[in-house]
Amino acid sequence: MTLTTEEIPKTSSENGVLGQMSSLEHEQVVHFYDRFTGLRAIVAIHNTYLGPALGGTRMWMYNNEAEALTDVLRLSRGMTYKAAISGLNLGGGKAVIIGDAKTQKNEALMRRFGKCVESLGGRYITAEDVNINTQDMEYIAMETEHVTGLPENLGGGGDPSPVTAYGVYLGIKASAKERYGSDSLKGKKILVQGIGKVGYHLIEHLTKDGAIVYAYDISAENLKRAVNNFGVKATEADIMFDLDIDIYAPCALGASINDESLARLRCSIIAGAANNQLLDEAKHGRVLTEKGILYAPDFLINAGGLINVSIELEGYNRDLALQRTERIYDVTLEIFKLANEQKIPTIEAAKKMAEQRIDAISRISLTF
Ligand code: NAD
Repeated sequence: MTLTTEEIPKTSSENGVLGQMSSLEHEQVVHFYDRFTGLRAIVAIHNTYLGPALGGTRMWMYNNEAEALTDVLRLSRGMTYKAAISGLNLGGGKAVIIGDAKTQKNEALMRRFGKCVESLGGRYITAEDVNINTQDMEYIAMETEHVTGLPENLGGGGDPSPVTAYGVYLGIKASAKERYGSDSLKGKKILVQGIGKVGYHLIEHLTKDGAIVYAYDISAENLKRAVNNFGVKATEADIMFDLDIDIYAPCALGASINDESLARLRCSIIAGAANNQLLDEAKHGRVLTEKGILYAPDFLINAGGLINVSIELEGYNRDLALQRTERIYDVTLEIFKLANEQKIPTIEAAKKMAEQRIDAISRISLTF
C-alpha cells in the first residue's frame, strides 16, 4: 500500500515526514503490513533514472513508524548518490523492517517480505543491511528474483561487508594522501566506532598497515574479539571523542557527526562505513570544513558492498568486485579536488558529482 497523506505519521520535526518525502524527492514509498507474520516494513524508492533501485533491508527496533520512515527516506536517497557516484546503472532504494531481529526474525517473516519485494515488479532490488544476513536473503529469494547478497552456493557473492571494508580502507588511504601527502597509515591513530561486519574487516586492514587503532562497540563481545584478534586499544563511549587521534572512522549507525561530537573531536580526517554520518548534512558539512577536518563522504567510500552486490546481477565475480571497488581511491581524490576548487564541503562536491551523472545519463535515455 502506498502511504496516503493521512496515513503518514507526523514527527516532531518542523516539516514532518511528508515534508521530508517531498523535499528529498522520492519517487515511491510503500508501507507493508502482514497480520499473520507481524511484518511491518517500508520500502522507499528514491530515484530510478539510472536503473532499478537497489539497496539493503535493515531490521531495527524503531520506536515508531515515523522514525522508521525518516530512516528509510534518508537511507534510500543515499543509495541514489552511492550508485551514481560509483558509476553503476542502478537507482537508489532501501527497505526497513520494524522489529527486533533477535526475537522476531524468522523464515515466514522474511519470505513474506520477499513477496512484498516481488510486488514492486523489479523497481526495487533488495540486499543485506544491519541485522539482515545471507540466510535472510535466501528466504527472500524463495519469493522473488529481485534480490542480491545471496550466499555463494546460490550464485551470489556472499556477505558484501568485506568488500565494503576494503573500499572504506581505500577511502581512508586517499584521505591520508590528501591531508598528509602520503597514503601510508603506519603510526596513524585511528578511532573505529562499531566493530560489526564492516568494522571488523576494516580494522584488519588498518592494523596490517601499522595503524594504532582505538575501538569502541556497544557490544562487549565484538570489542573483545577485536582486542584479542588485532590488539586494538579498547575505549569507551564517554571518552572516545576526546582521544588524541588522527582519523575517526564511524562504522556503527548514522548521525554520529553532530554538534556534540564535533565540539570534542580532535582529528584531521573523518572517513568510515556508516551511512548518513552527518546528522545535518548542510550544517555539519560546513562545520567540518570550518574546523579543517577532511570528510570522506560516506556514500562514496562505503560503496564497495553495493558494487559487490551489483555484480551479482551480471554473474558474480569477486575479482571484478574488488577491481571496481578500487576506483573509490581515485574518486575520493577527485571529490577533494572539486571541493577545493569550488570551495564547498566535500559532501556537497560528492552530491554534485553524483547529480551531474544522473542528469547526464537521464538526458541520454530521453533521446530514444
Ligand atoms: P553491523 O550491524 O554488523 O555492525 C554494527 C556494529 O556497530 C555492531 O557491532 C554494533 O554493536 C555496533 N554499534 C551500534 N551502535 C553503536 C554505538 N552507538 N557505538 C558503538 N558501536 C555501536 O553492521 P555493518 O554491516 O558492519 O554496518 C556498519 C555500518 O556501515 C552501518 O551504518 C551500515 O549501514 C553501513 N554499511 C554497511 C555495509 C555492508 O556491506 N555491511 C555497506 C555500506 C554501509
